[in-house]
Order: sequence, then C-alpha cells, then structure tokens
Amino acid sequence: MLQIHDKVFEPYITKQKLSNAVESIANKIALDCKNETPLFLGVLNGSFMFCSDLLKAYKTPCEISFIKLASYQQTKSTGKVNQLIGLNEDLTNRTVIVVEDIIDTGNTLEKIVALLKQTSAKEVKIATLFLKPTVYNKDIKIDYTGLEIPNRFILGYGMDYDGLGRNLDEVYVLKD
Ligand code: 5GP
Repeated sequence: MLQIHDKVFEPYITKQKLSNAVESIANKIALDCKNETPLFLGVLNGSFMFCSDLLKAYKTPCEISFIKLASYQQTKSTGKVNQLIGLNEDLTNRTVIVVEDIIDTGNTLEKIVALLKQTSAKEVKIATLFLKPTVYNKDIKIDYTGLEIPNRFILGYGMDYDGLGRNLDEVYVLKD
C-alpha cells in the first residue's frame, strides 16, 4: 500500500509487465519504420519514463524530442487557443510518433494531433503505454497501445497524483 496525501494506492502493474509492454511497442514500431528514421515526440510530463525505456528498447536509428500542450487566452470572444511548446524540429516529410503515457478521453491527443496536422509531417502515428478504452471517445486511430486498463486512476512510472508519484518504477492504482 502507498499513501499520497489523502489517497491510498495499491500495486497494480509490475516492472516486468511494464517492460514487456514497452518492448512490444518498440518492436512493432521498428517493424513499421524499417526504411525510415522516426521522430518520437514525447508528451510531457507524464511520458518521460516511458520515452526513456521505449528508446532504449528501440534498436534502430530514431530521434526524440519532447512537447507540451499549453493553452493561452487569446481574446474573450475567441477563447482558449492550444499550442505546442518545445517543437523546434522541422517535421517536413518526417514520420512522427506521438508518445503518450495514458489516453483517457483523448481530449489531449485530439488537440495535439490537430496541431501536428498543420505541419508538413509525412505521417503522424500515436503510441500510448496505457489506454482506457471505455472512456476513449475519439476517432483518432491509436497505432500502438501497451496495456488497456479499466476506468481507474493510476500513478507511477511517470504519472502523478498532485505532482507526486512520478518516480515510482511500478504502476499503482487508486484503491476503491
Ligand atoms: P485525456 O485528455 O485523454 O482525457 O487525458 C490525458 C491526460 O490525463 C494524460 O496524459 C494524463 O496526464 C492524465 N490522466 C488520465 N488518466 C490518468 C490516470 O489514470 N492517472 C494519471 N496519473 N493521469 C491520468
């Protein structure tokens, strides 16, 4: 058991299971990218640990960069506008692989994909370590999924609860 602030978490996904899922995603991507050098785009903060292990398991040439989705208020009438922070690479003709820790509703993913579609990337693919299929409600195809989980709150392996727990090397779930 693990207590963080007011919440109690219990062990959920072991190191071994995580590393199998990561390796399987790396192998699938490598097969699909035989003739190219993909550019992995890790979505901060949650995906940092997954990205690190994914890249170690990816044995052929690739590049990595990190992005963050931010929104700023434009005017009262136009409302919030999303932007990608940290994208310094020229994506022209690149195969881009967005790397997410977890996809829940898919709202974050939808915004990121919309912004990447405005670039000249050849292809934008999605890799996520976790997916909550009962909550995900978008049409965007998720090309590589590590593990499907029910609609429960998890933390560890990069994912936080109120800023804490990202350093845990296993995944925990909020106790009912
Ligand atoms: P979405 O936009 O798909 O609803 O949510 C995506 C983001 O919400 C993730 O990148 C993550 O930061 C956060 N999130 C969604 N589900 C969980 C969860 O179970 N645990 C944690 N720690 N974060 C989550």
